[in-house]
Amino acid sequence: MESILVLIHADESGATLTKASLETVTAGKELSARLGTQLTIGIVAADASVPANAVANAGAKLLAAQGPAFAQPRFASDAAACEALCRAAQATIVLAPQSSRFARVMAAVAHRLGGVIDTHITALADAESVEASRWFYRQRIEAVVTRTARPWFLLLDAGTHAPFAGESGDAQRESGQAQRELSTAPIETVEIVQVNLPALRTEVTGIRAPKQGEQTIRPDAKLLFVAGAGWTKKQPDGHVHTGEAAKLILEFLRVSSASLGSSKSLVDQGGEGNSVLPFLTHLNQVGQTGSTPRHAKGLSACCHGEEPHVVGWRFIAERRAISLDPNCGWTRGKADVVYIADAFQVMAKLNESLAAKS
Ligand SMILES: Cc1cc2nc3c(=O)[nH]c(=O)nc-3n(C[C@H](O)[C@H](O)[C@H](O)COP(=O)(O)OP(=O)(O)OC[C@H]3O[C@@H](n4cnc5c(N)ncnc54)[C@H](O)[C@@H]3O)c2cc1C
Repeated sequence: MESILVLIHADESGATLTKASLETVTAGKELSARLGTQLTIGIVAADASVPANAVANAGAKLLAAQGPAFAQPRFASDAAACEALCRAAQATIVLAPQSSRFARVMAAVAHRLGGVIDTHITALADAESVEASRWFYRQRIEAVVTRTARPWFLLLDAGTHAPFAGESGDAQRESGQAQRELSTAPIETVEIVQVNLPALRTEVTGIRAPKQGEQTIRPDAKLLFVAGAGWTKKQPDGHVHTGEAAKLILEFLRVSSASLGSSKSLVDQGGEGNSVLPFLTHLNQVGQTGSTPRHAKGLSACCHGEEPHVVGWRFIAERRAISLDPNCGWTRGKADVVYIADAFQVMAKLNESLAAKS
């Protein structure tokens, strides 16, 4: 009989679980229901009470590694916390979000427990045994992995499951000594697991991040807006209008809260000393040699829609594009709706109407 543990963590505020954590709870609930087995949720947080409340109605046994050491991500403390939670749960299958915090430690935790790990999992199924799906070769080949080795750690990609949204419960904390009573403890009760912390040599003294307004990559946004090289090309009046392009794009991001993607041609221009959009980096690049984001909708403007770019749109559910070229890749079956129009004019109108609405 499998024993399933879902490991989750709070966000930087410490008060809320990350969306990816809640998605992993959904995956764990679905898998344990299908296998007819007990689900355990292990929380890593400075104070587990608020995160525990968010999952109190998940029908799972709740464990927590809590204390000031777990307020911020750090390899030594996070690895020790996850190891202690896995041992307390005696898990055979461990699901965790593929967040930077957990991705950094989970291979080491699997090693400490003599287990195995697979990353970037997008789906879980069970036939004769548990099956995990992931994509290879830039999302072109999907593989289904099964393993007999246990414990089996699976890091789940964000955006692959609906976030768990059960009503908050009223989870109560128990002391570590209650471990013996675990099997009879009420399901809403959180058991605090003792963690043997090694010497901590790293201290997080602060976070340096771009100002909110400058942050253009927003993985949780509903819409992905992709800018193509056309924004920096000569327009019908014989001139480039990069400044105007920058204003239109940033204004659209502000009013729509969309995430910003780019074609490779556009971000590559920065290296050639050409006129470019200063807020774009290679991190924005979508495609075969860029990222494969997951958003409900995507809008591309001034991009040709070539295959190496569009392969990065594989997980975008609804695709629209604005291009001057009626023969662009988007019109050849790559987008659901294509507007053959001047993106400068379309985006100016769109910004106007969105600003009026807000
Ligand atoms: C091995 C390999 C890997 C690659 N990986 C990637 C990748 O990861 N990501 C990626 O993006 N590319 C990748 N490429 C490059 C890709 O093939 C294309 O060259 C690139 O995507 C083209 O970018 P673009 O469409 O923005 O530019 P262009 O091809 O220059 O297209 C610009 C478009 O803008 C339109 N336009 C111009 N002005 C306007 C206007 N006012 N209104 C509306 N439309 C306008 C034009 O009609 C044109 O269709 C890769 C290529 C190779 C060989």
